[in-house]
Amino acid sequence: MNENNIVIETINRILFPRNPKCSVCNRILIHKDDIYCSKCDEKLEWIHSRRCDICGRAMDSNGYSNICENCEKDENYFSKGYSLWSYDKYSKRIIKKIKYGGYERLAINLGKVLYENTFNLDFLNEIDIVIPTPSDKIRFIKRGYNQAYLIAKGFCDKRDLPLREDIVLKEIATKDQIGLSEKERKANLKGAFSVK
Ligand SMILES: [Zn+2]
Ligand SMILES: [Zn+2]
Repeated sequence: MNENNIVIETINRILFPRNPKCSVCNRILIHKDDIYCSKCDEKLEWIHSRRCDICGRAMDSNGYSNICENCEKDENYFSKGYSLWSYDKYSKRIIKKIKYGGYERLAINLGKVLYENTFNLDFLNEIDIVIPTPSDKIRFIKRGYNQAYLIAKGFCDKRDLPLREDIVLKEIATKDQIGLSEKERKANLKGAFSVK
């Protein structure tokens, strides 16, 4: 951090002592609903390039196929995916804080950021209801919230869509997905969900 940044951060701390910190670099944020500072906005790897039609991953602009290698070789259980950023060291910090740091407000605000950056996409007009990935009871008690629900809540509040937690349930407590391969992740979750 250079001298100018230290001065700015000190002024922010005096003027906005209760404001949240940037979820990437920990600078004090001026606006309460922001989740990262302007510097980290530039660092995050926003996906502006061509995307895979199915999973939404960034794709090489010179390729011919509209579908990425992963989706070509593996059958997905979803018809459309979309992400704002590539999963790199900066976006990882935001996700870690939400999953393991107890940052509930950050999860809701991330849902708002998701809305603000996707509201004009056509495929969203086909959505009738939003169902967040459910959390099992043990994990819910440990974490105190379901992060998928909070992200969806931030999104639905802005988009005015019904949010339903009572349709898909997770009745089996599964192992943490961290450190598992894609195949192991699928096996770990097999049979864990039920639809009411
Ligand atoms: Zn920052
Ligand atoms: Zn794909």
